[in-house]
Amino acid sequence: MRRASVHSEQGATSETARGINRAIVLNLIRKRQPISRADLARASGLQPSTVSLIAEQLIREKWVVYGSVGRLPRGRRPTFLQLNERRVILALDLRPATSTVAVTDVNGNFLERQSIQTPDNPDTAIKIFSERILRIIADHPELLFEGIGVVIPGRYDDKRDRVVFAPNLKWPEFDLRAPLEKATGLPVKVENAANACVLAEVWFAQSTARNLLAITVSEGVGVGIVADGHLVHAANGMAGEFGHIPLDASGPTCGCGARGCWEVYASNWAALRFYGAASRSGRPSFHDLLALAEGGDQNSLRALDHMAQEIGRGMRMVIAALSPEEIVFVGEFTRLWNRMGPIIERAVKQSVLVGNPPLVRPAAAEASVARLRGTVAMVLKERFGSAVERRPRIAKLVRKPIVLRRGAEVMSV
Ligand SMILES: [Zn+2]
Repeated sequence: MRRASVHSEQGATSETARGINRAIVLNLIRKRQPISRADLARASGLQPSTVSLIAEQLIREKWVVYGSVGRLPRGRRPTFLQLNERRVILALDLRPATSTVAVTDVNGNFLERQSIQTPDNPDTAIKIFSERILRIIADHPELLFEGIGVVIPGRYDDKRDRVVFAPNLKWPEFDLRAPLEKATGLPVKVENAANACVLAEVWFAQSTARNLLAITVSEGVGVGIVADGHLVHAANGMAGEFGHIPLDASGPTCGCGARGCWEVYASNWAALRFYGAASRSGRPSFHDLLALAEGGDQNSLRALDHMAQEIGRGMRMVIAALSPEEIVFVGEFTRLWNRMGPIIERAVKQSVLVGNPPLVRPAAAEASVARLRGTVAMVLKERFGSAVERRPRIAKLVRKPIVLRRGAEVMSV
């Protein structure tokens, strides 16, 4: 995938210009649908004839369909364009105990969701997921399946096509993309859960922060990073593993082998440990713990307060390292945001070295939805380019190099 960068200078071919203009039109339809061709031309700055050509092409490719007919006081009644809801994405949320396979349309609406018990090894998992996906495709001949997005509780090295770091899954390094593509015949994108969640915020919650973090708190703690408008993967796809920075060298052992990592204190499992220590009773699931807390159980509330303080304890390292404008928290715990959020916000305020504290909020959608919508964004990003509106490229100027200046509003997410 080609990435725009604030540091690059590149000459655009006419093919590049066409591709960028097509992505601009497709994104405008996605965000403002239903929309007329005239409004598309106004919003994009492109010639009406160029918009019409692109629209016809998108209709031929079944990305866009004619929607309702608009009403104006006089003159021709415009036909509105909207995304084709029959074009769908298969989303697979791979998690340690239970995974989810879902079908969503291009707008991120779910058409179907199925739970699958996660097998204990990658070979069986790929076989079972492939079978389930093929059955869904066979059951829906009316749908156009665009691709498969897989979100994993680990990191994905796209240069080597390997899931490289999934300590809570306890599987060895494995290739997920190629076997799934071979079995299903569909293109597959694989992404870390936190990265998928930060993409979901940009694509579906329409966050416009150029420095945005999604902190996912579940069995572990992961950070998805958009820095200066780019999703950060870095070497081996490993950027964002703040959950495995030790806060206490003599703390409990972590899934990564080290002791006292941040996630050993701040994850759902940590809250259950605090609760077990506090109540000396049998351990519930995290879901049970939240329900107990919502019912006013004091030991559960204390365990969750402790968890919030531990999430807060990691804020200094995250903010000092990345200086975000906005931090979005994703996880079941956000159900108790009214109680846990202020504890975290206090820690964020105390962690800022210069300037205003970043905006802190829970994710726009609940955790499972955020991860699945992230997979939709991963697949659509291939077709739409950036989620953020860009200036159109005018074909007749493309012989001159387009210089992307530092500070220009370039986003690649
Ligand atoms: Zn660790």
